[in-house]
Amino acid sequence: MTFRWTKHRFAGGALALDVANSVILRSDATKSLDRFAEPEQIVAFAEASTRLGAERDRFPALTAPEAGERPVLLELREAIDGYFRSSIASGGNDDGGLAELLFACGTALRSFPLSESLGNATAHSALSLLAADTRERLRICGNCGWLFIDRSKNRSRIWCDMTVCGNRRKASRHYHRQKEART
Ligand SMILES: [Zn+2]
Repeated sequence: MTFRWTKHRFAGGALALDVANSVILRSDATKSLDRFAEPEQIVAFAEASTRLGAERDRFPALTAPEAGERPVLLELREAIDGYFRSSIASGGNDDGGLAELLFACGTALRSFPLSESLGNATAHSALSLLAADTRERLRICGNCGWLFIDRSKNRSRIWCDMTVCGNRRKASRHYHRQKEART
């Protein structure tokens, strides 16, 4: 199956969240898929994020990590997902997760000192998300479970991407209603 880093895959609204969202259906072990499992996909992600990512002006050129440094990026990714997901879900503090995130950011900044490296940029992006006004806008998509920033005026977004997850959920509700009506 061919895979492309389309605009939808950059629905997170921040580089750090798009990196976290490179694991598809994280909560379902039977369907979960790590798009970074193939190193060439990390290269393709880095390139695509400079065209499609919400922070493309801030990070206009990104290079993927070398093989030996890939684990540092993946650990940072897990720390980003772990902290923001748990703090959104609990609606508040997760100091243990925050400590892990800050540690992973520190490791990434030391391992990737160049600003154009994906690991460096992802750490900076993650640290920006800690600002209170951004932190309050972080959400978990009601359909796919991706993390995203709700930049809507009334802060009422529930889908990472209305055109994909919003429609899919609507179609599924329609299907279930029809099925109920038949039985
Ligand atoms: Zn979604």
